[in-house]
Amino acid sequence: MTFFSASYSDARAKFKLAANRVGASVESVPVSQGLEVDIASLGEPDLPTLIVTSGLHGVEAFFGSAVQIATLASLHQAANENTAFGDCRLVLVHGLNPYGFAHIRRVDENNIDLNRNFPESEQQYQGAAAAYKALNGFLNPPSQPSRFEPYKLKAAATIVRYGLPALREAIACGQYQYPKGIFYGGIEPSTATRFVMSHCENWVGSASNVAHIDLHTGLGEFGRYKILVNEEPGADGLSWHAKTFGERSLGYLRNNDKTAYAVSGAMGVWLQNRFNDRRYHFAGAEFGTYDPVRIIGAIRAENRAHHYAVAGSKIHDRAKAELLECFCPANEAWREQTLMSAKKIITSAMHGLLKSSREATR
Ligand SMILES: [Zn+2]
Repeated sequence: MTFFSASYSDARAKFKLAANRVGASVESVPVSQGLEVDIASLGEPDLPTLIVTSGLHGVEAFFGSAVQIATLASLHQAANENTAFGDCRLVLVHGLNPYGFAHIRRVDENNIDLNRNFPESEQQYQGAAAAYKALNGFLNPPSQPSRFEPYKLKAAATIVRYGLPALREAIACGQYQYPKGIFYGGIEPSTATRFVMSHCENWVGSASNVAHIDLHTGLGEFGRYKILVNEEPGADGLSWHAKTFGERSLGYLRNNDKTAYAVSGAMGVWLQNRFNDRRYHFAGAEFGTYDPVRIIGAIRAENRAHHYAVAGSKIHDRAKAELLECFCPANEAWREQTLMSAKKIITSAMHGLLKSSREATR
């Protein structure tokens, strides 16, 4: 059986089946437009807890779901062996953005990038980085995509004119000014954000030691991964990550020398603040697919198709197919390699969690 699924409903069926086979308890919670998020958990709530979330960026759940199903399948396989999972609790949250998962979008039903939508400060839901404002015309043409548009040439000209760092900044920071634009962070916590805010306590339970892996795709080299952290390089909280995943696999979302306009609204930052009374080791596991110009092109075209093309038209479907390919490539070697790496990351996180729990009780 392949762990990858063809649709949101196919993925849910496989996930629930795999969870039932290992005796996990499964809860399904309606989040937006009647679409549900499934949560599988195994183990007592006071044990050190490993949380694995997928699909905060809708379409990225096609990969994250496969990782979660593969994790459950390997637990099933190892059920009769002596596995370390018995000493820790495992919580798998399947498809945090069910609308984006079901409709093949990165964003939710209000065009919101959920990883820019978690409340951080009162000024947060306003404005856009200067770089984004300058690039808005290029990023968000108010028309349906066209096969004949010389997108790559336009992208190259934009990069020559503004520089790649400006493009990176516009993307990394998100924006709160153009509701139909890409990387829009909304004006208040969205339905899926509120779902995380109100349910995270159940996932964390009474554990004092928590590791959280949030699965993402689309950034980095094809088939490779980075463990992205919210802390700045060298921060105190990072020794666990460095020991657990290896210094070389770490990547930094907040590198103050490089970003003038701080990233805001990230889920991990919100969770770390919410659970600052415990050790909450949060990491985004980001798996690379294609080059950034292609990725931006796919996000841009799908966004234009969503707002300006007829649903079900050729133009619309082509944009969806390219978005899916960009965030979950069909390439067998990519799928095999990334699944293997993701399983390794999850195993390392579990061992790191158990090790730090033992050290704390010594
Ligand atoms: Zn993502």
